[in-house]
Amino acid sequence: MTALVGAYDRLLVDLDGTVYAGAVAIPGAAEALEGLPVTYVTNNASRAPSDVAQHLRDLGFAAPDDSVVTSAQAGAGLLASLVPAGTSVLVVGADALRDEVVARGLVPVDTAEEARAVVQGHSPQTGWALLSEAALAIRAGATWVATNTDATLPTDRGLLVGNGSMVAAVANATGRTPEVAGKPGAPILLDAASDTGASTPLVVGDRLDTDIEGGNAAGFDTYLVLTGVNDAADVVVAPDRHQPTYIADTLAGLHGPREALVPGPRDGWTATVDGDELVVTGEPGADPAGATYVAIAAARGVPQERRATLKHTVRERSAGTGPIPWTR
Ligand SMILES: [Mg+2]
Repeated sequence: MTALVGAYDRLLVDLDGTVYAGAVAIPGAAEALEGLPVTYVTNNASRAPSDVAQHLRDLGFAAPDDSVVTSAQAGAGLLASLVPAGTSVLVVGADALRDEVVARGLVPVDTAEEARAVVQGHSPQTGWALLSEAALAIRAGATWVATNTDATLPTDRGLLVGNGSMVAAVANATGRTPEVAGKPGAPILLDAASDTGASTPLVVGDRLDTDIEGGNAAGFDTYLVLTGVNDAADVVVAPDRHQPTYIADTLAGLHGPREALVPGPRDGWTATVDGDELVVTGEPGADPAGATYVAIAAARGVPQERRATLKHTVRERSAGTGPIPWTR
């Protein structure tokens, strides 16, 4: 048996919901990633890569400082690819973003009149005055890059205002939209691959609309792990751009056969679409895990506009089939 991970030369791994949940490591994640070529890719632009790496090491992950790529790095890199060296940049974001801008030969400035570009990432200090400077600069024609467009920022207390919501304020005021470096944009993943010389990376994450969409946009295979935001039922109804190559309960699936995690036929299961109903039927004793993969394969045969409204039905031919946990 060839392990799934053996087909890839680097793993581009998400953080929250994939390796940790807030301050706690996801059980088994560190063990599953041990010894593998891992780059951690985070949309968080407010912490330096070395701080993120230290947090990972505190949780038991082998994470040297250079194993972390943040959207601040990707945002500054994207901006540097769009404007000449020495360009004056209004930095709407944390010191970690300002440092990345300086590292790429760009020059931070404080007013719209000086700025030829704007880069925007999360900082809890950003207020109306700085957003207004950004709006003035953008209206005057400045190049605008956002590190990421996450609408919310997950915390122990719940979902706070994320960078995407602050970007939306400026977009609303200017009628413009920024170039986006972080997931679901491809730049952060393309950078992480090229910086490490990877040619066949695998994108690993818990969210369809960031990790998986970003991986698909970059042209890489993707691995959805069901330890975070999205579940298997979300995959059934997801549009094409959100469909992962693999679906797995945990990161331990990296060490198993790839066929086990690819949607398709499974012994003892059938799935058919009847109108707007997806009917999944199990033989007595069939492995409950098989239902996920036959259901997703059947749903992929439905045009994506109709897929979103599919209703799920599981017909069990006997009690031996067991419950399908994700059925809605
Ligand atoms: Mg995540």
